[in-house]
Amino acid sequence: MDFLIATHNLKKRDELQRILSPLGVHVLTADEAGVDLSDVEETGTTFLENALLKARAGCKEGAMPCIADDSGLCVDALDGAPGVYSARFAGEHGNDEKNNEKLLGLLRDVPDEKRTARFVSAVACVFPDGRECTVEGVCEGVVGRSARGAGGFGYDPLFYVGGRSFAELTAAQKDAISHRGNALRKLAAALPAYLDANERK
Ligand code: IMP
Repeated sequence: MDFLIATHNLKKRDELQRILSPLGVHVLTADEAGVDLSDVEETGTTFLENALLKARAGCKEGAMPCIADDSGLCVDALDGAPGVYSARFAGEHGNDEKNNEKLLGLLRDVPDEKRTARFVSAVACVFPDGRECTVEGVCEGVVGRSARGAGGFGYDPLFYVGGRSFAELTAAQKDAISHRGNALRKLAAALPAYLDANERK
């Protein structure tokens, strides 16, 4: 069964495909499905609201089931910021270097034991008949004092779990503990109830 995913990010497409293929799910990016989702604005105040906004729009535009995720970093010492504003924390959408610089600056005087944070990922799946399935995944860690590692993206070089930054992990190691990996595994567990038996392998 084909599912649209409301992203142009090929890494996210591959991650979703890896986790959902045992269910007989085949995912298509908006580009692959020829669907234009450029008008969808992330105006929600929670990850879940934004994931639902994107999945509902994708389902309507593509006339097929649509999966969308919304994610970000919540830092306790900053009252949960950057949260839903993670991608544009320093002003310019998707500038990882500036976002990380701003985060380190704001936490300069915060002691190690108060640098706790979590990555959160909300995933929504919306079906043309109106059914909606939502899940959330979390990964707890701390914000380090300097960047380490060359992998990943976004805040990965500053986010430490068990003494290693996310950017020091392989993709498979990150998938196994990450917020998105956790959310997608929950989605994989929930989806069979939404799929007709004859639509599965
Ligand atoms: P979105 O879910 O693609 O909108 O991502 C929002 C922002 O959250 C990204 O631009 C990153 O700054 C941050 N983010 C979300 N997931 C991760 C992750 O796994 N590693 C690092 N940063 C992340």
